[in-house]
Amino acid sequence: MSRVDAPSRNEEFTHEGWTFRCSTSHILPSQCTQPCDSNTKLCSYCLFTKELPQLPHLPEMVYPNNRLEIVHDKSGSVIEFNALDALKLVKSENKSVKIACAEDWRRARQDTGLVDKTIGEFDWTFSTDYCGTMKNWAKEEETQTVIDTNKLRQKEEILLYKEVTLFEDELHDNGIALCSVRIRVMPSGYFALLRYFLRVDGVILSVYDTRVYHDFTTNYVLTESTHREGKVSEMKLPIYKMNEPDEVTPLIPLEKTILLKLILPADKGKTFFFRYCMVKLFVFPKLYFLFKV
Ligand SMILES: [Zn+2]
Repeated sequence: MSRVDAPSRNEEFTHEGWTFRCSTSHILPSQCTQPCDSNTKLCSYCLFTKELPQLPHLPEMVYPNNRLEIVHDKSGSVIEFNALDALKLVKSENKSVKIACAEDWRRARQDTGLVDKTIGEFDWTFSTDYCGTMKNWAKEEETQTVIDTNKLRQKEEILLYKEVTLFEDELHDNGIALCSVRIRVMPSGYFALLRYFLRVDGVILSVYDTRVYHDFTTNYVLTESTHREGKVSEMKLPIYKMNEPDEVTPLIPLEKTILLKLILPADKGKTFFFRYCMVKLFVFPKLYFLFKV
């Protein structure tokens, strides 16, 4: 008898023409859960194995059905965060730790058996610069506009708060790699933070963050993606801080920032009205004259 994947827990919240969907479920099974072949829908284990050929191993805890979806109801524009798309961006070789601190790593981890893993193997830290999966946006452009953090600090009612883990690995007790997303919806807008956090004990801290902000009075969404990375030996931070991603992240040297503006498609109702007016003006040029004066 086949065992199908356990159902997810789905929650939905709608506000100001946007729907926020949050799904959470069990971790990825360690083997196939049903007879999977080309004619059947693959179980999550087979799907992840097929879609991630660059990864000989998956993180210890992958949540295949955990996702956060932010949907603009009228246009169908979507920002989604899920584990599969995040893991697709893990490189097939481990550049960060190898280049930045291979020697420190070697010295510090001589006895752990992990040393060999740094050389010429896949990225066992599962580093990903995933920024979310975007669908049906009119345009995506680079911008100089930053997210107004002062506005976000203002006291405002929180209508919805959710946190969803996408994957996690304890690096054989040598640190942590954690990818998760959280969102809060307020009366004036929403703010989401996707974070991949890596701490290799005694060696490196690395964080890929993507902040997403929308003010309900505008027709665009701002995203701010950053990469921070530093050697533990150079940062000289107290150990307790390194266990707190929120506290330690701002202290890690900033390597890169990308600011984007996602533009919502024009309102179809408004576009139709505009076209209707243009046709009227074309067919009745006198009206144009009237408009002109
Ligand atoms: Zn299967």
